[in-house]
Amino acid sequence: MNYDILLKGGTVVDPAQNLNANRDVAIADGAIAAIDTDIPKDAAKQTISAKNQYVTPGLIDIHTHVYYGVTTWGIKADDICPISGTTTFVDAGSASWATFPGFREFIVEPAQTHILNYVHISGIGLVYGPVGEMHDLSYADPDLVADTLKSNRDITVGVKVRQGKMQVGNNGVEPLKLAIQAAEQANMPVMCHIGEGVPLPDVLELMRPGDVITHCFQGNGDNIIDEKGKIIPEAWQAQQNSVIFDVGHGAGSFRYEVAQRAMEQGFISDVISTDLHTGNINGPVYDLPTTLSKLVHLGLTLEEVIEKSTINAAKTIKRENQLGHLKIGTYSRCCSS
Ligand SMILES: [Zn+2]
Repeated sequence: MNYDILLKGGTVVDPAQNLNANRDVAIADGAIAAIDTDIPKDAAKQTISAKNQYVTPGLIDIHTHVYYGVTTWGIKADDICPISGTTTFVDAGSASWATFPGFREFIVEPAQTHILNYVHISGIGLVYGPVGEMHDLSYADPDLVADTLKSNRDITVGVKVRQGKMQVGNNGVEPLKLAIQAAEQANMPVMCHIGEGVPLPDVLELMRPGDVITHCFQGNGDNIIDEKGKIIPEAWQAQQNSVIFDVGHGAGSFRYEVAQRAMEQGFISDVISTDLHTGNINGPVYDLPTTLSKLVHLGLTLEEVIEKSTINAAKTIKRENQLGHLKIGTYSRCCSS
């Protein structure tokens, strides 16, 4: 017996390896051990038929909220991971430095799901949804956020900030500037939520290569298309400067019309994520495959949506060595420590 598990007869879609073909996949000691056209059944302890099914790398959702019991948004990652093929959930700013120890001990460590985290620039994180977390700039302490990022590099991927009027009040792009300060200290990217009430060009002007705009197809105002339906030049410029555009579907942050207009003009998101939280898990989001299917409906191919939720997502969080593909030696569930 060379292998523990054999997935037999499936269609393997692994854009990182340019693979879309019938292949058998063997796993040994939790890692991908072989991919071949015909691996005999007796080489594995357990064989699972994948006939008429797709086999993909574990999907990576770079925008979720899983700080259950502490924030108003938090869902339980393990309830949704196994049924959605999503093996890595990146929490987008539910915790900050003040609540990070609890996030690590009570959420990340006991979970079966591989959980990573953007640390919020507001020290209170996203504990209390009804009131914006950056109405008062004194909630932000870039030094403490940077310390948290640096001393938890195994599970941190960047800094989160939300830049809508509801979240920042009259503070304009000051929270984003503070988030960038923290990110620079830790040499990590920023993930910025865009929303109504803060001019998008002001936000995009500050974004650096590798930083992430989430909710890129939101349609509440201050979005990527102007009143005539054209992509604003600042969005094209940002994409050219390697700013990453992420779907971050959410409860009210994905407008079909905006996505359709954008895609007709060739403006395609780099990554597809859900923004899964208590307010959308029972619809309209449900899970990442449902969100991927919406983008297929809008014209992307299956390979493209898998690419945007595997290898592109892994590159965005700088984990492409361990995640987002089925290369030999890759752990089927990446262990963070
Ligand atoms: Zn979110």
